[in-house]
Parts: sequence; C-alpha cells; structure tokens
Amino acid sequence: MFDLIIVGGGIAGLAFALKGCEAGKKVLIIEKNEGPNEASIRNFGMVLPLGMPKGSALNRAMKSKEVWKHYAKKAKFWANECGMLMVAHHDDEMAAMEEFHTDISLPPYQTRLLNAEQAKVLSPGVNPKGLRGALFSQTDVLINPQQALTQLTQYLYGFENSQLQYNTLVSHFESNDKGVKVVTNKGVFEGRQVVCCPGHQFASLFDLEADQAPTVCKLQMVRTLKQTQNWAFGPMMSTGLSMLHYPAFDQVKSLQAVRNRVEQDHPELIQYGIHLLAAQHQTGEITLGDSHEYGNTPSPFINQRINQLILEYAQKVMTLPSWELKEQWIGIYSKAKTDHVYWEQPQDNLFLITGLGGTGMSTSFAIAEEWFKEHQH
Ligand SMILES: Cc1cc2nc3c(=O)[nH]c(=O)nc-3n(C[C@H](O)[C@H](O)[C@H](O)COP(=O)(O)OP(=O)(O)OC[C@H]3O[C@@H](n4cnc5c(N)ncnc54)[C@H](O)[C@@H]3O)c2cc1C
Repeated sequence: MFDLIIVGGGIAGLAFALKGCEAGKKVLIIEKNEGPNEASIRNFGMVLPLGMPKGSALNRAMKSKEVWKHYAKKAKFWANECGMLMVAHHDDEMAAMEEFHTDISLPPYQTRLLNAEQAKVLSPGVNPKGLRGALFSQTDVLINPQQALTQLTQYLYGFENSQLQYNTLVSHFESNDKGVKVVTNKGVFEGRQVVCCPGHQFASLFDLEADQAPTVCKLQMVRTLKQTQNWAFGPMMSTGLSMLHYPAFDQVKSLQAVRNRVEQDHPELIQYGIHLLAAQHQTGEITLGDSHEYGNTPSPFINQRINQLILEYAQKVMTLPSWELKEQWIGIYSKAKTDHVYWEQPQDNLFLITGLGGTGMSTSFAIAEEWFKEHQH
C-alpha cells in the first residue's frame, strides 16, 4: 500500500510526487511512456508570471518560479532568470504596453518601459526596424523543459520512499474504504490517496460532463539550429500579439486598437491563434511558436502554413544570425474552461488535476503545494 500514487509523469505529476517524497510519504508514480513525452517536454519552458492575471494564477506563478530555482540547484538543471521582453513595432502596441505598465502592473508584477534604444541594448535579437519600444518583465524564468524534466525524474529516483513505474498504462480506478486501487496493464497498485495528472488524455480515464470538461488544444512549434558561437538572444521575447492571448492584459482598454489592426492585416494569425514567443535555451537554439487550434481530436499533422506564418512574423520583429530550422513539432494540452486548472475529486481519495492550458510549467509546483495543505495533515 502506497501513501500516495501519482498517475502521469509530466510536470504536474512530478510536482505532486516531489512534494509527497519530501513530506516522507511512500510515493508511486505511474507513467505510460518511458518518461515524460507530452506537453511538459514540448513547451518553451517559460515560467511566466507576466502572462497571468492578478489573483491565484499570478500568485501560483510567483511561487512556482521560486520552486523551479530551488530544484534547478538540487536536481542540476539550467534555469535562467532572463525575464521577458515584449517588443512593440506598432504605436498601438506601445500604447497598450504603457497602459498596462501604468494602470495594472503593480507588484508582484515587475515591469519597466523601454525605448527602442534600451530594448536593443537588452536584446541583440530584436529587429530595430520600426521598433517603438518594449515592456520588460523581470519576474520571468526560462528553463529547458527536456533537460529539466529528465533531471527532475532522476532526482525523484534518488528518494528511498519513491517508486517509478514507467511503461505502464492506467485503465481505471476502484475506491474502497482503505483507499484506491489503480488498475494498470502491469497489475493493480493500491494507494491511500491517488492524484491523477493525465494532461490532455483525461477522457480515457474519466467521463466528464461535456460542458465541464477541459478543452483540448493543439499547438505548433519550430526550433532553429544552434546560433553561431556565443551569440546570445537575451531575454525571452514576445510581442503585442501575446497581449491579445494572455488574460493578464484583458483589462487593457487600448488593446482593442491592436486587435482591430491584427484582425484587418493578419486574419490568419487570429484564425490559427498564433502569438509569437521566442526563447534561447543553453543549447544555443531558438525555440519559436506557437499556434492554438481547439478540438477534442487534434489533427496529427503539422500544418506548414502555420509554421510559415510564425516564421514570417518572427522575421518582422526579430533578427537572428541563422533561421535554419532544426525541427518542428506539435504539442497538445488540455485547458480548463473557467480557470487555469481543472481540479476535481471524482471518487473518495481520488483527485484529478488537468486543464493547465498554457500555464502548467508556470503554476504546477504551487498547485501541488496547495493540494498538500488541503488534503495532507
Ligand atoms: C507547445 C506548448 C508550449 C507551451 N509553453 C508553455 C510555457 O512556456 N510555459 C508554461 O507555463 N506552460 C506552457 N505550456 C503548457 C504546459 O506545457 C502544460 O500545461 C503542462 O506541461 C501540462 O502538464 P501535465 O503534467 O498536466 O500534462 P502532460 O505533460 O501532458 O503529462 C501527462 C502525463 O500523463 C501520462 N498519462 C496520461 N494518461 C495516462 C494513463 N492512462 N496511464 C499512465 N500515464 C498516463 C502521459 O503519458 C503524460 O506523460 C505549453 C504547452 C505546449 C503544448
């Protein structure tokens, strides 16, 4: 009998498992793949308070970034407190950034407005042509998701009270008065409590009401080859398009002018939910994305038109020594309909945590901590 069984070895599952191990619980983590292979290793690795609206999402991101920094040291992976540079190549974008900075950006947000010269000094990757200025956020941290998830998984192996059961598919759960039986293709495991973090594959385990269930979203990403020796991109980069995407900016009234212009001049960006994010990890490559297409059965195919639109827009706002691509891929996440997490208790001692949308890397550690406060005494 385990104290705690976690289903899913993505960032949410790992956050719960680490917390359980550190609390001295006997923890089992069950994952159907050989290791994390879904959204948690397909993302940018941006730990991004800037995108979060005030309240629980922002507080969770602020808390989680401290936890990331802590584990980066313990589990030995790269974490860069480089911040996020949101560049403006249009007057309407600059006006919206000024409004956010002046009217909304109180602590814990930490933003600065930069003129074009200051932005260029901060980032050799910004295209100076047409640059009006930028909003710089100091709170944001970049990790390399593939490296970080591998190292966190290794770190979990180091706990005597942890057990990892990979290549194991969970089919269903049976609650009884002692706890929960987790039925898998490799046998039955029993836990006093079970936290299930299956990402977008929740529907194979739980029959949720259609109007309550998280939405599934497909995203496209591209990565360049390693840039020339020692060329440093600087902070993570985004544009006014991200202000249309992240709820942190919902209250910015002047954003309507940006929306009107983008709808008029770039309807396909709206159609495919494209907003530009870019980051350079310690490997020297630049990761660029992304698009958002919603639907329960995402197409497995990469739409080359979407990647072309991402790259065309990137080339308007960024300058890179090399745009030669190394790889492109899709990622899929589930997104809660009314919050940034879908947190439910379908049976006694069984919990479902999914629907983290585009924020799971930024909030999972804090969500796990809150669950422990509520359900472990
Ligand atoms: C392209 C892209 C870019 C993103 N960028 C960012 C970003 O920069 N910052 C940010 O904060 N967020 C970002 N996100 C969101 C973030 O990646 C997700 O919110 C987060 O990874 C979700 O973590 P998870 O553990 O819930 O799900 P997952 O990573 O999907 O993990 C779920 C795990 O459960 C396993 N599983 C499922 N069903 C079963 C079963 N029946 N039996 C056993 N195992 C099972 C799966 O194999 C999987 O390993 C991005 C997402 C994508 C796709």
